[in-house]
Amino acid sequence: MTDLRPHATPGFVTLAGAGPGSAEMLTLAVARALAGADVVLHDRLVSPEVLALAAPGALLIETGKEGFGPGMAQGDICTMMVAFARAGRDVLRLKSGDPAVFGRLDEELEALDAAGIGWRILPGITAASAAAATLGQSLTKRGRNGELRLITGHDVAGYAEQDWRALARPGAVAAIYMGRRAARFLQGRLMMHGADPTTPVAIVENVSRANQRVIAARLGGLVADLAGISGPAVLMLGLAPRAAEAALPELKEVLQ
Ligand code: SAH
Repeated sequence: MTDLRPHATPGFVTLAGAGPGSAEMLTLAVARALAGADVVLHDRLVSPEVLALAAPGALLIETGKEGFGPGMAQGDICTMMVAFARAGRDVLRLKSGDPAVFGRLDEELEALDAAGIGWRILPGITAASAAAATLGQSLTKRGRNGELRLITGHDVAGYAEQDWRALARPGAVAAIYMGRRAARFLQGRLMMHGADPTTPVAIVENVSRANQRVIAARLGGLVADLAGISGPAVLMLGLAPRAAEAALPELKEVLQ
C-alpha cells in the first residue's frame, strides 16, 4: 500500500479535498492528514463536522474562498501557505470537494514550486459525485451519455461561456458548479442552442449535509426553482431524481 503520510522534512504542504460536507465522505488519507496537521488553511465550504477532526492544538484559518467567489486574495493564501511551511509547520490546505475541481489548485502548486516547498495532493469526493449518489443516478450511462462535463456558471471574467451546442443535445449530462447566480444566463444560452425546456435539471443543495435539499427542476423553470436556494448547490443538467424520473412521461419515452 502506498504510504500517503507526510514526509518528515519540514516545509511540506498537503493539498486535500474534504468532500462535500459529511465527514463520512472524507478519505482515510485526508482524515489522517487533518489529525496530524499543525496548520489547516481551509475554504469556507469545509464543514465544521470535518474541521472537528483536526488536532486539538491545530491552528485553523478560514480563507473564505468559495470557488471563484469572494474571499482572501489568492496571493495572500499562497503567501501564508509558504510562510507556515517555511517555519517548519505541517500545513494542510483543505478545499471542499476535490481540490482539482474549480479549486485554483494550480495557482497554489505554482507558488509552492516557486518557493521550493514539497507538496502532495489528496483527492476528495467532488460535489457532482455526491449529488449523483443522492439522485440515485449514474453520471454516465450507456446509450444516454458517453461524456460528462463539469462546468462553472461563472469564472473570474463573469458568466462562463461553454460548448452550448453540445450541452443542449438530448441526453447531455453536466454538473454545473457555481451556477446559482448564472442560472438565467445558462437557461438562455441552452435554450438558444435548442435545448428542450422540459430537460431535467436537478438542483442539489448542501449535498451530504443534514440540510441537504433536492429540487427536480426543468430547464424552463430553473430560475424560479432556484429562488429559495441559498446554500451551495450543484445543478445537474440532464438528470432528475430517480423517483421523479418515473413520473416524467417524456423521459419514459426516451428510456424505452
Ligand atoms: N472543489 C469543489 C468545488 C468548489 S466550487 C468540489 O469539488 O466540489 C464551489 C461550488 O461547488 C459551489 O458553488 C457549488 O456549486 C459546489 N458545491 C460545493 N459543495 C457543495 C455541496 N455540499 N452541495 C452542493 N454543491 C456544492
